[in-house]
This record gives sequence, structure tokens and C-alpha cells, in this order.
Amino acid sequence: MKNKVEIIQINISGEDKPGLTSSLTHILAQYDAFILDIGQANIHSSLTMGILIKTTADKSGFIMKDLLFKASELGVMIRFTPVAEDKYDAWVKRQGRNRYIVTLLGRKVTAQNIASVTQAIYEEGLNIDSIRRLTGRMPLNEDDRAQKSCIELSVRGNLEDRGLLQKKLMNMSGSRLDISLQKDDIYRRSRRLICFDMDSTLIETEVIDELAKRAGVGEKVAEITERAMRGEIDFCESFTERVALLKGLDVSVMEDIARNLPITEGLERLMTILKRVGYKTAILSGGFTYFGNYLKQRFGFDYVYANELEVEDGKLTGRYVGEVVDGRRKAELLRLLCQFENIDIAQSVAVGDGANDLPMLNLAGLGIAFHAKPKVKATAEQSISTIGLDGILYFLGLKDSRIE
Ligand SMILES: [Mg+2]
Repeated sequence: MKNKVEIIQINISGEDKPGLTSSLTHILAQYDAFILDIGQANIHSSLTMGILIKTTADKSGFIMKDLLFKASELGVMIRFTPVAEDKYDAWVKRQGRNRYIVTLLGRKVTAQNIASVTQAIYEEGLNIDSIRRLTGRMPLNEDDRAQKSCIELSVRGNLEDRGLLQKKLMNMSGSRLDISLQKDDIYRRSRRLICFDMDSTLIETEVIDELAKRAGVGEKVAEITERAMRGEIDFCESFTERVALLKGLDVSVMEDIARNLPITEGLERLMTILKRVGYKTAILSGGFTYFGNYLKQRFGFDYVYANELEVEDGKLTGRYVGEVVDGRRKAELLRLLCQFENIDIAQSVAVGDGANDLPMLNLAGLGIAFHAKPKVKATAEQSISTIGLDGILYFLGLKDSRIE
């Protein structure tokens, strides 16, 4: 039985040094060991590495002896654990199970946040495979307000009721923590189109309210807008009513409003990176084309679909041109853009804050409620309320250290 197959798990930990992995794997190569699995993680300046090898009984003693000497020379700890073949087979079979990505995001993610989220994951029978930090290194001053913190967990297992875990996680999220649960499949790794609502998403205002202020009907319109965005009244009906109140307003105010739009935190960074990695971007807005085009030009969006105000003799007529972009139309446009760009709908992302964004948030592969109204947040599968628009990058799995 000299050549009996042996499976050995090797765990190495200690201070990271240049060339450490290479010198240890050289020994494995020398004895022609077959590597079944290998993984490494670095925290601060220390390293933890695991290697699972298959070898034969006549070599295993030499491999362990040589590795032990090398480890002692390098000043790292090494441990060997024999693994039974049936245990290895059982482990391989489990690999096929569903994978999910859970992302925790906030100004700071606390130990309590991680404890609660991992508790919920454990209760649903899932196993955590790996944990990584997506944000840059944390400053020691934890009160830094510009700070962002994001931790991504890769989890595995058969989820009986995804909705239940989703609900638990959404209940834990709030003003200080956002949590996203996504299926870790091929679509998650190849998102290609991202559609944004405009008002109160890309900009921190509702343009129609700004126009109304200039027309002297500010309060009246703002109240209707608020109710429409909360989903209390019909969007189209209220839109027609509000536009009618703008009648007679000089179009020159549009340019002034556009130039002074309060841009949402993180938009510039988000757009720069999305474009760099090849995303198609669109504004699907129940607001107005003029402002959508202004943002398109300034930030480089690929598409804008919004509503066109009718103008006669340099003044708004109180009417609009064409079909109103409402919630149903936004979802339809998302679908059409996917068709046109030859993108699977599962590869699309939608971001919005209002009730009229819900149809597109539900249709997209990834729907994100952004600083959203309560009704929208309660219905959406993930939301961002703690930080700016660039938080979306973390939900897409992009890591600060890779993109800066
Ligand atoms: Mg909005």
C-alpha cells in the first residue's frame, strides 16, 4: 500500500514575506503534489493560506518534513490535517449549491452590524465562504463624515425562502446601514446597463418644484409632487395638473435652474467609473428632457428619456409634448434599451427613489432604491440610504483599490 492516495490540508499563517507562497509551493512541485484547492487572505501584514493537496503515501512524509523546515526558516506556522476521501467528495458536491453575495454598506460598518447579518445568514442555513472589504483602508479617526465602509460576504447554500432572508436583511438596514442580497451568478458579474431616475436620485431636488417656485406656484406644486412620489396619487394625472400650473413661465429660467442643479454626492465618481468599465447609462425620468440633456452632456450618459415641455414664443404653454414617461413607461424603456443594446434584462440595473420607479426597479436584474420614499424602500430588494450614488459601485462588486 506504498502508493495509497492521501489528501492533506495545509494551513499556513504568520507574517507575510515576499516569496513565501513561491518557496512553499516549490516543495509541492518537487514532489509532484496535485493541488486540489488553494486560497490566501491577508489582514494587515499577516497572511493566512490554505492548500489542499493530493499525493501518495510514499511522498507525503517527505513533503510535510520539507514544508515544516521551510516554514520554520520563514518564521510562519504550518499545520497539516489529513482529509478522508469521502469527506473531500462530500465537500466537492456542496460546491454546486447556490451562491449569494451579501453586501454591507454605510459610513461605518460596526461589529454589531456584522454580528446581526451573519446571524441571519446562519439562521437561514447558509455558510460564509469568504469575506472581503471593498472600501479603501479605514482611517483611525472613526468620526470622519466622508468615510465609507463596505464589507462583502460570499455565502453558499440552499436558501429555502430567499424572500425571508431578504426581509430580515432589509429590516436590519436603516439610516446607518444598507444591505444588499444578490444571487451570485454570471449576470451579477456582467451587468452592462444602468438606468437612473433623475429627480431626487441624480439631483437632490424635483425640477418641477423648482420651476413652480419661479412661476409663483411653488408650495402648491411641491405638495402634489410629494404625494405623487409617495405613490398616493396617479402620476400622469398629477403631472398634467402640475405642468398646467407652469403656464406662462419664461423658458430662460430653465437654463438658470439647470446650471444650479444640486448634484447628488458621488455622481461624478460613479459615472467616471461606469464609463471606464464599459457600462451603458440611461436617464429614465418623469421629469423634463431639458434637464436630462444637461446632465447627459455634463456627465456623459448614453440615453435620456423624459418629458418635453411645450414652448410657444419663449414661454411654457402649460402643456407637454408626446407621451408622459410614467412608471410603466420607465420599465418599458428599460426593456427596450436591453433589446436595443442586446443585453439580457438580468444584466440591467435600475436606480430610483419614487413610486414611479418601482416597475423598473422590479424588472431590472438589480433594483436599487436610492434614498427612497418609504413605500419604495419597503418594496425594493436593495436600497442605499447611508451614502452617495457611488455606493452603487459596491453593490456591483467593484473594489476601491481596483478602481482608484
Ligand atoms: Mg425621483
